Amino acid sequence: LFAGPCDFIFASAKSSDLPVIGPPEIAFAGRSNVGKSSLLNALTNRKTLARVSNTPGRTQQLNFFALGGAPGAERLRLVDMPGYGYAAVGKEKVANWSQLMRDYLKGRASLARVFVLVDGRRGVKPLDEEMFDLLDHSAVSYQVILTKYDELKIAERDDVLAATMKALEKRPAAFPEVIFTSAHGGEGIPELRAAIAKLLAE
Ligand code: GDP
Repeated sequence: LFAGPCDFIFASAKSSDLPVIGPPEIAFAGRSNVGKSSLLNALTNRKTLARVSNTPGRTQQLNFFALGGAPGAERLRLVDMPGYGYAAVGKEKVANWSQLMRDYLKGRASLARVFVLVDGRRGVKPLDEEMFDLLDHSAVSYQVILTKYDELKIAERDDVLAATMKALEKRPAAFPEVIFTSAHGGEGIPELRAAIAKLLAE
């Protein structure tokens, strides 16, 4: 699944423009700078993916990629959601972005899971909680990934993991396992791939 190409399929800037439902989708969300581009590159063994998503004009869109086959014959779609919490983005853009997210998350039958990236050094912040709220209300299954594992000392890893588990405890749509990753050292990437492969098998 991850050894082959991961081609760009489609960018959606508005909800009337979402691609037709096809194979299962997994989406990646998180505040800007959380390490989403780095993780997606590590996950798919390529550099072009994040470059595509970071092209000016595409950063506020949902970017769809094909995994496990060329576009049209893919087994899985990877959806890169726009990073949130970037201070320089105006109110109107934030509103557009929220609407697009809401519309995508509402009744997307092919959406298997959203991976929500949380910065391992910061832990769960109010903006992350807002994302969890949206996913809980949309009844979309989500799993938290703590990033930048390599930056943390052992005790800090334990603390942020415990605090994250606690933040997810009473959340109905949250998957009870948290994955720790490092795009730099590669920790957690095999676990993330296994979690994705398992979703496909379900
Ligand atoms: P994005 O805005 O969420 O796409 O984040 P990027 O992937 O562009 O990363 C933001 C910053 O965090 C960059 O300076 C990266 O080098 C750094 N970063 C990303 N992943 C890791 C990681 O696993 N470990 C460390 N130490 N830094 C990381």
